[in-house]
Amino acid sequence: MAARRLFHRFVLSFGLGTALIVAPGADAQDAKNLGDGIPTPEQYVQSAGGDSRVLPPGQFKLDGRRQLCGQRPTVIDNKLDDYGAAYPGFIIMNPRYLSKVSTPVKQWIYAHECGHQFRGPDEETADCFAVQRGRRQGWLTHEGLDEVCSFISPAKGDAMHFSGSYRCAYMRKCYEDPTIK
Ligand SMILES: [Zn+2]
Repeated sequence: MAARRLFHRFVLSFGLGTALIVAPGADAQDAKNLGDGIPTPEQYVQSAGGDSRVLPPGQFKLDGRRQLCGQRPTVIDNKLDDYGAAYPGFIIMNPRYLSKVSTPVKQWIYAHECGHQFRGPDEETADCFAVQRGRRQGWLTHEGLDEVCSFISPAKGDAMHFSGSYRCAYMRKCYEDPTIK
């Protein structure tokens, strides 16, 4: 199972109570084949199957709003066991889950995964990145932040994801941070 754990280590899940995800069908042998454990978007899609597909940067939209994360492509995976996830180099979004939440929450999820691209695996840092980006770009109001907070409130803390209320308090602090433009 060591190889499997290694594989998991590179998967940064949004994590609402669920643990780290792994591409469906991936096993220790896949992880070994992937070398450093980081698949390309194409390898991920091949492994996930179904109607999963890769969208080039600038092609992914949430409620008609174009989402950008530098030059990172977005992988659509309706079978992902979470709303979103990130591998270094690309973002995974699950439209089936995302259709259940409001526009600001959707955008916050995307921005959180984008935060992992630029700021690394730390969850608090990705949360902070997301709300400050939302404030700067104008899509996250105080009301929207409230929606995000109620969205994550049932989330149980685990090793990677702090409890929802803790994350929320930290995000509010980040959102209000006057030193950040
Ligand atoms: Zn995360």
